[in-house]
Amino acid sequence: MTDAVKVGFVPFSAPVRGILVVFCDDALKVGPQATKALGGAAAAVKRAAAANRFKGKNGAVLDILAPESLKAGRLLVVGTGKASDLKEIDFLKLGGKLAAKVSSGTEDVTVIAENSSGPMKAAQAAGLAAGIRLRSYRFDRYKTKKKDDDAAPLKAQFSIAVKDVAEAKKAFAPESHIVDGVVIARELVNEPPNVLFPAEFARRATQLRKLGVQVDVLDVAAMTKLKMGALLGVGQGSSHDSRTVIMRWNGGKQGEQPIAFIGKGVCFDTGGISIKPSASMEDMKGDMGGAACVVGLMHALAARKAKVNVIGAIGVVENMPDGNAQRPGDIVTSMSGQTIEIINTDAEGRLVLADVLWYVGKKYKPKFMIDLATLTGAIMVALGIDYAGLFSNNDKLSERLIEAGQETGERVWRMPLGPEYDKQIDSQFADMKNTGGRNGGSITAAQFLQRFVDNTPWAHLDIAGTAMGVPASDLNRSWGSGFGVRLLNRLVADHYEAKK
Ligand code: MN
Ligand code: ZN
Repeated sequence: MTDAVKVGFVPFSAPVRGILVVFCDDALKVGPQATKALGGAAAAVKRAAAANRFKGKNGAVLDILAPESLKAGRLLVVGTGKASDLKEIDFLKLGGKLAAKVSSGTEDVTVIAENSSGPMKAAQAAGLAAGIRLRSYRFDRYKTKKKDDDAAPLKAQFSIAVKDVAEAKKAFAPESHIVDGVVIARELVNEPPNVLFPAEFARRATQLRKLGVQVDVLDVAAMTKLKMGALLGVGQGSSHDSRTVIMRWNGGKQGEQPIAFIGKGVCFDTGGISIKPSASMEDMKGDMGGAACVVGLMHALAARKAKVNVIGAIGVVENMPDGNAQRPGDIVTSMSGQTIEIINTDAEGRLVLADVLWYVGKKYKPKFMIDLATLTGAIMVALGIDYAGLFSNNDKLSERLIEAGQETGERVWRMPLGPEYDKQIDSQFADMKNTGGRNGGSITAAQFLQRFVDNTPWAHLDIAGTAMGVPASDLNRSWGSGFGVRLLNRLVADHYEAKK
């Protein structure tokens, strides 16, 4: 992983270099270290605050040319609001806010990790560092001509001044691996579909082996042997062969029941014979956001040596309309033995997941399965792009996901399931059909998946609105968001890891 920015920790006593960043509360009060760093400039800051109507509100930034008495060339005063109100996620956002102000060129930045009341805790300083890295990520590999400032890669060196450097470093180590996981997921989503086709996606997943993850790649012959007729039907119209990738991280006790994460990896979705309109079709390179999240999550868990046994499984295919493509009206037999009438070849993600869910459920008998998929446009109609849709057969798992969503800012909203919706996908020719009509489109998609999970506790996250194309936020400016990596890492850390 190469980052444009570097983030490190220094003691409070270290000299200030480049841009100075201090935090103040909603009474414009700064802590003792910041007071020291500002020296005689405090009065100038007060004047600038008044002139800019800066009130120290959480996330507000006062950006001023540093007064002469200061060693720094530029001064950023970042508001925290009432310091005692700050939650864990707020420190990441504050990091993102300040990184957003350092937008180009080569800069040194010194950040005084201190609230108005005193030094930030190690975990809070680590949160700042994580936020800086998340916000600074950009995808510009294919830009050969960097004209304006904004296109130039950020080459800043952030030094976060803390009370105890060793403690901050220790707190940041696992966080840094989680950020790496998010970046991996974003990279995969952002990559163009001529570069990232199924075999290449699988190859990139094999890089997890360096971290001790066991990675098995099933090719078409292997999947044919397993009778994965639902998944294979989707890929048969593409000149790029499909793959299923199974990743196993055994950080828990030997023989302990694993947990499982499953991702939809449609590297490009034309819709197939039920072809999509051309407007925005390029966005369908992101139809593998679920699989990208699973790979990023496996990286995060393995790199921070999570004490848990985890299966990651992704079905990677390309949905194309050539002469061998699947037709509406075709009936395919899934690995479970259940038959599926294809009504619309653009409802392909559920077909991919059907076989991977069944395979993982039967082979590994996990404690739970959580799948992630950019599954339906209907979920955006229902929830917009701020929440992912959550569907589950298990209340406890749902509550834990909702809680992890609030803690990480990757929020999920629970949607209903039930027999009245399930009926919508009954078929007159086969056991089921792959679409349930206009009404409740994200729900009938989830009902379809539920027919392949049996009694395993399961949750489905429809991330069509959150995985890509979201507006720039404090923690992300790139098209691919990496949504789900931090959410699921937190779920695992809070509830499924052996305590150290
Ligand atoms: Mn589709
Ligand atoms: Zn799709």
